[in-house]
Amino acid sequence: MSIKTRLGKLNFLLNRNPIIESIRDSAKYIPENFKSVITITADFELAWAWRYSKSSDKPYSLAIKKAKSERENVPKILEFCEKYKIPITWATVGHLFLEKCEKTNEIAHPQIKRLKHFENTYWKYSSNDWFEYDPCSDYINSPEWYCPDLIEMIQQSRVKHEIGCHTFSHIDCSDKFCAPDVFESEINECKKAAENYGISLKSFVHPGHTIGNLTKLAELGFTSFQSDPGNILGYPVKHKNGLWELKRTYEFVFRNDWSIEYHIRRYKKIIDRAIKSNTVCNLWFHPSVNSEAVEQIFPEVFEYINDRRNDIWITIVGDYTNFLNSNAK
Ligand SMILES: [Zn+2]
Ligand SMILES: [Zn+2]
Repeated sequence: MSIKTRLGKLNFLLNRNPIIESIRDSAKYIPENFKSVITITADFELAWAWRYSKSSDKPYSLAIKKAKSERENVPKILEFCEKYKIPITWATVGHLFLEKCEKTNEIAHPQIKRLKHFENTYWKYSSNDWFEYDPCSDYINSPEWYCPDLIEMIQQSRVKHEIGCHTFSHIDCSDKFCAPDVFESEINECKKAAENYGISLKSFVHPGHTIGNLTKLAELGFTSFQSDPGNILGYPVKHKNGLWELKRTYEFVFRNDWSIEYHIRRYKKIIDRAIKSNTVCNLWFHPSVNSEAVEQIFPEVFEYINDRRNDIWITIVGDYTNFLNSNAK
């Protein structure tokens, strides 16, 4: 085991990760009779998240690979959600709602305003057009870029999931790189696409932690966004513009230097700590995660949460935000 892995495990053991915020008026944030609230968010994006990734020499191939594993994983995840009655908030890239798209005068989605070239921590965009990889095809021929089939599967599940928003084309939303009119044109396109499914988008996740355009987000009718100020077990914060900020607690990842058993132990321990500290736990994951995680780790953790539902309110972000608005003004 490497020193880094050892230190990571030690920090976890010593309660330094996630950081537990000191107890606040927890009755404001956690309904009576419960000790904790858990939400689980999936950043649902297929190929869109990875096409400008700096983590690979061939980001396009990486994007297609991620999309394929996401497509394989989502039906299995939904099955475990039904088995253990676990609802998920699917922060969905808007393009995934489409069955197909086509170019108008050689341009994909001309009504959407484009980001200028930029480079951030995760992505570098310096080529011709932000939509250059959009196949302008349909979900049968290019299933890596569209998934009306999976969205319907989520909607038809016996568990009440939520469909949230992750921009239309996985843009950088930071105020530095994203002008408000670009942000607005992306979000309007998401709303239009979601309406075809009878979905009204309320919960937002900024792609790649690029928090920004919060005033616009509130104006566009959203009620929450999620931040990553380090892993936190704590309490949401209400902004002046009315948005609730949910601090993310932990990502379900798959690490080669951890055993399956260690992953499970670790995630269970986080649930225990949330209950013990009377805090809110916002878990999240990429559905493209390694299939071993989905098949061997998720069911164990979901079962563990399900067994503790007398202590934990397991809910979707939209319902939690409604509770906060009526309880913690
Ligand atoms: Zn398109
Ligand atoms: Zn994303």
